[in-house]
Amino acid sequence: MKVVKFGGSSLASGEQVEKVFNIVTSDPERKIVVVSAPGKRFSDDIKVTDLLIECAERYMLHGEADELVNKIVERYSIIADDLGVPSDIINTIKEDLLTLLKGDQSSPERYLDAIKASGEDNNAKLVAAVFQHKGVDASYVNPKDAGLLVSNEPGNAQTLPESYERLHSLRERSGIVIFPGFFGYNEFGQVLTFSRSGSDITGSILANAVKADVYENFTDVDAVYCVNPNIVKNPKDIKEMTYREMRELSYGGFSVFHEEALLPAFRAGIPVNVRNTNNPTAPGTLIVNKRNGSTGPVVGIASDGGFCSIYVSKYLMNREIGFGRKLLQILEDFGFSYEHIPSGIDDISIILSQKQMTEEAEKKIVERIYNELHADEVKIEHDLALIMVVGEGMRHNVGTTARAAKALANAQVNIEMINQGSSEVSMMFAVKEELEKRAVQALYEEFFVAVPV
Ligand code: ASP
Repeated sequence: MKVVKFGGSSLASGEQVEKVFNIVTSDPERKIVVVSAPGKRFSDDIKVTDLLIECAERYMLHGEADELVNKIVERYSIIADDLGVPSDIINTIKEDLLTLLKGDQSSPERYLDAIKASGEDNNAKLVAAVFQHKGVDASYVNPKDAGLLVSNEPGNAQTLPESYERLHSLRERSGIVIFPGFFGYNEFGQVLTFSRSGSDITGSILANAVKADVYENFTDVDAVYCVNPNIVKNPKDIKEMTYREMRELSYGGFSVFHEEALLPAFRAGIPVNVRNTNNPTAPGTLIVNKRNGSTGPVVGIASDGGFCSIYVSKYLMNREIGFGRKLLQILEDFGFSYEHIPSGIDDISIILSQKQMTEEAEKKIVERIYNELHADEVKIEHDLALIMVVGEGMRHNVGTTARAAKALANAQVNIEMINQGSSEVSMMFAVKEELEKRAVQALYEEFFVAVPV
């Protein structure tokens, strides 16, 4: 049995929904279908989820949002009209949205979640109606009835372990199940959404719960590319990679598949197949537990900007018990999280997301490090990009770091910092943000274009 998830761009118009119908019905193993809300039809278009957020915010402020309600309902009605589905479903969708808008606003976050979730909920109803209209045995299933229980964190809900056992019975249902992505219910029956793009998470949970043979994640690219196509033109596809490699690459900025969605599939050892709705015969990328190490040491290169580093040096730091803890405590007092901590004998750098750091916080942190830890030197460096060179093959290959460093040197990129994770699945280079693209291009040339040495 396969669990299949379709992203927003795969469901943005009648034409796209028709493709979804053909993909699902072409394989009898495709029994559980998870849908997103209608996404963008063209690059300047607005996703239904974003329209819903705007609509909820407007309603909270002004007590009306008629124009936005009509815009949202129209997105569904265009699909229904294109596919000749009777209009009752559109009336149901409009009623539902109006009822939600009139709902309890005492907790704005919960109110927003309920309205955001309606994007997928109503789309699942519509897709089920399309399948039924075409004579296929398919039904909409509500996450509450199916038992998808989540924690009480609006906009960032986490699945509760008991969900898996409850959801298992979806296996037994006859016909095709159309299930809305992106949200679940807490123990009091209130709607809570996952973080943005969270329909991937729903698909993975269901794949785990029903013990699917594969979780197919349909999006709008042929595969996960080994490097960002906005940096390198026509980069190579990744045919196969491990969960750990995908985790490292998504951390480093690959957004094809939601970071949190890997875990449920990984725990149950279910392969994830990222595929293209617009080119369904392409095999896509397979994410598995173990792969044949046939592709060189590096599987992909990710990069992301917006980091800063706090460099601290103190003579005999290595002998001072509790130095690292005290340093991290200062960051914790500010509520800051960190990304990496490369260290030497007498120095340590902490890399963190620059978004957290205000000018004022920066001044106070530096002061505290001097005063409380008696550091010799404290320096904060801004505007860094982190480049992750990822591949399980690095563990058994000699000279990967040397090749990467040489490629960067040849491209005149100064390496601000190097860090190799203990797992040897990835290597991180920090460079100045303005050199990010050049660095990624050089590494791509080295590992994917040049003949391996
Ligand atoms: N529609 C939601 C979003 O835009 C969830 C999803 O598409 O996966 O974030």
